[in-house]
Amino acid sequence: MPRTLITGGAGFLGSHLCDRLVADGHDVICVDNFLTGPPDNIAHLRSHPKFSFMEHDVTSYIDVPGPLDFVLHFASPASPIDYLRLPIQTLKVGALGTHNALGLTKSKGGCFLLASTSEVYGDPSQHPQGEHYWGNVNPVGLRGVYDEAKRFAEAMTMAYHRYHGVPTRIVRIFNTYGPRMRLDDGRALPTFMRQALRGEPITVYGTGRQTRSFAYVDDTIEGIFRLLHSNVTQPINIGSRDEISIMDFAREIIALTRSSSEIEHHPLPEDDPKNRQPDTRLARELLGWETSIGRAEGLARTLDYVRSKVAQDL
Ligand code: NAD
Ligand code: UDP
Repeated sequence: MPRTLITGGAGFLGSHLCDRLVADGHDVICVDNFLTGPPDNIAHLRSHPKFSFMEHDVTSYIDVPGPLDFVLHFASPASPIDYLRLPIQTLKVGALGTHNALGLTKSKGGCFLLASTSEVYGDPSQHPQGEHYWGNVNPVGLRGVYDEAKRFAEAMTMAYHRYHGVPTRIVRIFNTYGPRMRLDDGRALPTFMRQALRGEPITVYGTGRQTRSFAYVDDTIEGIFRLLHSNVTQPINIGSRDEISIMDFAREIIALTRSSSEIEHHPLPEDDPKNRQPDTRLARELLGWETSIGRAEGLARTLDYVRSKVAQDL
């Protein structure tokens, strides 16, 4: 059975990946320093015989005894409020963390998968965004710490592939939502659901005409899983094609929760991308992957989770 290490395994996506890998028979080593992911996310796995946990900051040398077949690098603050309050840590985990995770993979003779992001496209001038598009990123803007860290991480991954022959995969993940998101992580979905359930104003930034395409976590995890087990080295977009304006998204959540909340406009954050929708042709052709859970279903599942957290006042 494969032995697999995942950095950032206590995070939102990382913990779902741990679940999926353990279910598939992998021996999973989860490495996390709980910077932005809570211990609760992996509490249910702690006693599982195929799961072990190492509390460690991956910007420092990662020392793991024994063989490794796969290393998945998911450690990084990921929501705008997290990476804006943690700019240096974000740059370090994208640069030094990626370097350490790649060095570990090389020494073990395993395969490396990088969690990259649609943010490498910045505020895109092409729509939808295909993998061939190089992006429109402001390196010195506030969001630059995240975008450029991921762009560096992709370049480092390709360098290890080309110069050291390490088998590598790069997944460019688009907005994903679902249970285990932190309610205070500032992202649109948990924020709007929390506000709607509490009857507080829904904070739409700018006009709300900017768009995103939201994928349910199970679909994203399936795409990552297929990429891991493929032989595809080029970056692959994984995300939903179902694009919606943030204003309509806010209205949808108000309707779903039958909330009396009003929409309140707040200033648009600097460099907030105007549109985002993945071109997923490559994922379809090379991995046979596409999303299968529509927004109505995904939102309903997530609402159950958010409702229980709001009830616990978390
Ligand atoms: P998250 O914040 O829930 O998870 C990140 C995890 O990494 C946390 O558990 C955190 O404690 C850990 N971490 C951060 N720095 C670390 C360090 N130096 N050492 C060890 N652990 C560290 O975020 P997420 O939404 O699960 O995102 C996971 C990955 O997926 C990130 O790399 C992110 O860039 C990428 N991604 C996520 C999305 C999304 O929609 N959720 C979209 C694009 C890309
Ligand atoms: N957004 C908003 N109100 C909020 C949080 C986010 O209007 O309380 C907007 C944000 O400006 C962006 C979109 O919703 O245009 C998605 O934001 P999120 O942080 O979820 O993801 P990202 O900007 O990284 O795509």
